[in-house]
Amino acid sequence: MALSGMEIFKLLPKTNCRECGLPTCIAFAMSLAADKIELSACPYVSDEVKEKLAQAEAPPIAPVTIGSGDHAFKIGGESVMFRHDKRFNNPTGLAMRLTDTMDAGDVKERLMRFGKLRYRRMGSLLRPELLAIDNQSKDSGKFVALIETVIQVSEARLILMSEDPEVMAAGLACCAESKPLICAATTDNADSMAELAVKHACPLVAKAKGLAELGELSGRLTDAGVKEIVLDPGVRTLKEAFADQIHIRRAAIHQAIGTLSYPTITFPCEMTNDLSMETLLAATFIAKYAGIVVLSDFQGESLYPLLMERMALFSDPQEPMMTPEGVYAIGEPDRYAPVILASSWALTYYNLCLAAEVSRTPVFLCFERITEPDVMCWCHHCLHSTQKGKFVAENTVRFVKKCKLEERVDHRTLVISARNAEFKAQLENALPEWEIVVGPGEAVHLSGFLPELAEELREKRKLLQA
Ligand code: SF4
Repeated sequence: MALSGMEIFKLLPKTNCRECGLPTCIAFAMSLAADKIELSACPYVSDEVKEKLAQAEAPPIAPVTIGSGDHAFKIGGESVMFRHDKRFNNPTGLAMRLTDTMDAGDVKERLMRFGKLRYRRMGSLLRPELLAIDNQSKDSGKFVALIETVIQVSEARLILMSEDPEVMAAGLACCAESKPLICAATTDNADSMAELAVKHACPLVAKAKGLAELGELSGRLTDAGVKEIVLDPGVRTLKEAFADQIHIRRAAIHQAIGTLSYPTITFPCEMTNDLSMETLLAATFIAKYAGIVVLSDFQGESLYPLLMERMALFSDPQEPMMTPEGVYAIGEPDRYAPVILASSWALTYYNLCLAAEVSRTPVFLCFERITEPDVMCWCHHCLHSTQKGKFVAENTVRFVKKCKLEERVDHRTLVISARNAEFKAQLENALPEWEIVVGPGEAVHLSGFLPELAEELREKRKLLQA
């Protein structure tokens, strides 16, 4: 159970020496409890206290790693029921199932689609991570052949699906070093599957009918030396599967039931034959509380909403959503494309991207990381829109210089929102080589403004070239 700030404070040296960068030990304790500082920042914590704190801070849901090295993907490691209590840590893994009864063409097409379906949003790459290889044929030769095909063309982390230990052993023989998730141990094959998981140091799914049997099975696997377990409560109907997800999370967090303190895997692909319905089921399990969801297929229109939902749920609610500071090229902007200066709030990012896409005008969007509300914000429905933030011209000037815009464009025109019109003179004084143009105050009106500005800039180029 995580310690409170006061409980942590009691274990600290209480010298207020400030070497951790904070003014007092109590400030350090509070920051540590809120996960805002690392314990290692205090050099005076004894080994005994370190161990005590590490044990106390271990998350109730154990973390499980699938894949190795740079391709390691972590699930679990959660410590709260609700995101607003703290935050969710490790995003639900999205898996596409391939079966060894599919024909080669179908497999190839799915693998190509799996590799292509990736999206960049706010500086993050969003994509599915896992391929589940299902031994539906019950033939170890076909299972191994499919695994070999997959590892030749994809770097996805693998889930190997078979309840036959001999087939699983054959599958592991060709990919164990990539640390796949073995799926699954049941009450019938638990000993053999546990042996394989221990031998290859791979995580193992415990699959049982109902939570009581599942708890017993995971205890058996732990006793056999399996270190990383993923839980599959076995039911394949929405109502029961949804309830099981909640019961498992509650059992781990509120009742500290060790045998259920593991991440879960869910199978929308085994609950319906309709991809749209599967996607809805997957969305439900991402919200509550699956470590992995396995779908039969991904199409852009089914995957994208799941990726966006996941990104929103696993963002830190105590931190406003921001895009990384920097310059973003939307479309294929040339050296006379408009340049827009704005804050890095997520809503501003979305609104400006949308406006540029709707207007079909390639632009450079420069997002400055700021902490004050409202300043340089273009989102009219921003929660902070009635507050007025502070504008620090020196910071903006430093940011504009850091962007090295002169290496990207030949004009010297920067667009700011009409909400910041009062800062135009201040900015022009600080950036004398740039003309500051005040654009509309609402992002939605940029779709009319941007094509006109782009045309104006092109005219300027013609005049300069004439
Ligand atoms: Fe206290 Fe350690 Fe920070 Fe010093 S470094 S103020 S002892 S928490």
